Amino acid sequence: MWGLKSKSESEANGSVSPPNKKLKTATKSKSTHMKNRPQRPCPFYKKIPGTPFTVDAFRYGGIEGFSAYFLTHFHYDHYGGLSKGWSHGPIYCSPLTARLVKMCLSVNSLYINSLELNAEYVIEGVKVRLLEANHCPGAALIHFRLPDGQCYLHTGDFRACKLMQTYPLLVNHRVNVLYLDTTYCNPKYKFPSKEDVLNYVVKVTKNFLRKQPKTLVVVGAYSIGKECVFLAISKALGVKIYANASRRRVLQSFDWHELSGSLCTQGNDTLLHVLPISALRFETLKDYLKSYTNQYAAVLAFRPTGWTYSESMGNQLSFIKPSSRGNITIYGVPYSEHSSFTELREFVQFLRPDKIIPTVNVWNAANRDKMQSYFREWLKG
Ligand SMILES: [Zn+2]
Repeated sequence: MWGLKSKSESEANGSVSPPNKKLKTATKSKSTHMKNRPQRPCPFYKKIPGTPFTVDAFRYGGIEGFSAYFLTHFHYDHYGGLSKGWSHGPIYCSPLTARLVKMCLSVNSLYINSLELNAEYVIEGVKVRLLEANHCPGAALIHFRLPDGQCYLHTGDFRACKLMQTYPLLVNHRVNVLYLDTTYCNPKYKFPSKEDVLNYVVKVTKNFLRKQPKTLVVVGAYSIGKECVFLAISKALGVKIYANASRRRVLQSFDWHELSGSLCTQGNDTLLHVLPISALRFETLKDYLKSYTNQYAAVLAFRPTGWTYSESMGNQLSFIKPSSRGNITIYGVPYSEHSSFTELREFVQFLRPDKIIPTVNVWNAANRDKMQSYFREWLKG
């Protein structure tokens, strides 16, 4: 059967802006409360060799020998440890991520350096560029080119796509070490394209509304990501999207005009609501519906996630069976913002790096060995 995946939840051109942009480099200072707390050591795959850089390593306090902290995107399992009291050194991230770090975490802006996508910056003598990662809004791949010519690519979280094979930086420079998002690095993970899933969600919604016009449509979402699911329904039905004030504040910070223009502030002004994933339970949705009994008689909810896969079913969306109880119907849909196994293989075969370091599901030695055997197979010949 279809099953839902449980990873903690935790996307060009070659335009060049002037190198050596002036960047803020707030210096490291020790805060007293951090001194008393034992810190786990920072794993090696979060440190870029030959540089004073770390990637997505904020929960280890100040890291000895490292003076610049890169953040790939604004998901908790990557920014965890960042807070108002951060004082361990400059943070580098995309402009959208920088806005969220300031707005949601109140990190002192003295420490935040936003780097435009596709622009080259020289930081501590290293050429750095952020590239669109096809993950959540603001997510970036980070490309480091050292003075000795070594190139490192850190994917953060990403969904590999054909467009990445046209990024000039990736076409023109061999990557020596690839730090890879291996969330779904197992052949059992096959899922459809995001476009196919969006079309499916719209089709299900329209069919449902035909049978029961008084339906409240709910899309479950984490903090950021998967916005296209509710936007697709909004566009197809010509309806606004309701989200509570704190979510609206985050969504409006994206500078994504189509999305901002589709939001509304009152739940009873639209049949399309965005709720936290945790609210997608029968009891919770039943209670939620009670607030709208004058308008709606049923709930159709979508839980967009990656998923585990059953060999016999392939990636056919038509095999999805919703869970229903009374007037509440919940669909788990495979809208993934991470690469499928075949997308990972295609990306690795395009890049042909000298070495691959997995960054997800690495705590088990058997898992790590299995992933390295896939990489060897992909790069054979
Ligand atoms: Zn993520």
